[in-house]
Amino acid sequence: MFSAILLNKNADGTTDAQVVQLEDVQLPSDGDVVVRIDYSTINYKDALAVTGKSPVVRKWPMVPGIDGAGEVLASSHADWKTGDQFILNGYGVGEAHMGCLAQRARLKGDWLIPRPLAISARTAMAIGTAGYTAMLCAMALEEQGVTKESGDILVTGASGGVGSIAIVILSAWGYRVVASTGKLSETGYLKSLGAAEVIDRNELSAPGKPLQKERWAGVVDSVGSHMLANAVAQTRCGGTVTACGLAQGMDFPSTVAPFILRGVKLIGIDSVMAPRAKRLAAWDHLARDIDMEKLSTITQGISLADVLLRAPDVIAGKIRGRLVVDVNA
Ligand code: NDP
Repeated sequence: MFSAILLNKNADGTTDAQVVQLEDVQLPSDGDVVVRIDYSTINYKDALAVTGKSPVVRKWPMVPGIDGAGEVLASSHADWKTGDQFILNGYGVGEAHMGCLAQRARLKGDWLIPRPLAISARTAMAIGTAGYTAMLCAMALEEQGVTKESGDILVTGASGGVGSIAIVILSAWGYRVVASTGKLSETGYLKSLGAAEVIDRNELSAPGKPLQKERWAGVVDSVGSHMLANAVAQTRCGGTVTACGLAQGMDFPSTVAPFILRGVKLIGIDSVMAPRAKRLAAWDHLARDIDMEKLSTITQGISLADVLLRAPDVIAGKIRGRLVVDVNA
């Protein structure tokens, strides 16, 4: 038997979430690697699944948890053997395939990547999909030719998981980062992560003109909606905006003006199905480039049972940084 969070759909469509004991036979059969999970985390998507706020779960019952780190217990996959240390991010785990907010999982070996030696399982989950996505955004800015000499980089949703780690990465790479937040009380925290300047998200979250004063060489946006539209409208000629999230909304109330009159590039970032080579490159960078002291200041440790209490706070945008789940606590 092992502990897991189990989600069931109630007759009225709401989600029932409980910590339960499961047996291996209850794990999905479509997987060639059985793993022990040491740490998981709550990302925004996990909070949506646990609270039932959005139809993230596509199969019931479901163990949530899109991220996991731990050890291989048994494998019939050629690349994995007992004792190997792994990281799992995405691939529909915790949505359509039972996930990692549990002490055990059966996964596909093709989904796993080796945990870099420089980081522990706990650190890997402090980074999690949020940090790996922040790195995909930072890499995309570089690929599009945004350099530290190009000008300021705007990070929206700055006090959240993606935002906080994007600040840590981009400031370490020498960029001047401007953090947009709804929590101005966190200005000191955001500056300690590496933000050169902190602005009130109210400056960006209301409907705005299609073209505005040019401010940003690059943008990491995890918020969507008007925030993304205004960020695009304020991006300099030839600048790049990376869009990865929808904390404000899924809509994009913009026009083509920034694209056709300023050559602004809008790059979509999808961590869930990102190709293996890109994942390996992102985790290699994360293991080398993340300031571990800063990472520890943005991380809180919680237990499986705590996930049920904290998930609504994640949806309400009340969490600063990252929640790491010790599934054995
Ligand atoms: P968090 O909940 O940790 O952070 C989201 C932040 O967005 C909040 O802390 C808050 O920051 C801001 N925010 C919340 N509500 C609003 C609002 N109504 N209007 C404007 N800003 C708001 O989430 P994550 O950082 O983990 O994820 C952020 C987004 O990125 C989510 O939508 C998530 O689904 C998406 N995502 C997408 C991935 C992909 O592969 N494309 C992978 C990972 C995440 P503040 O108070 O500082 O403004």
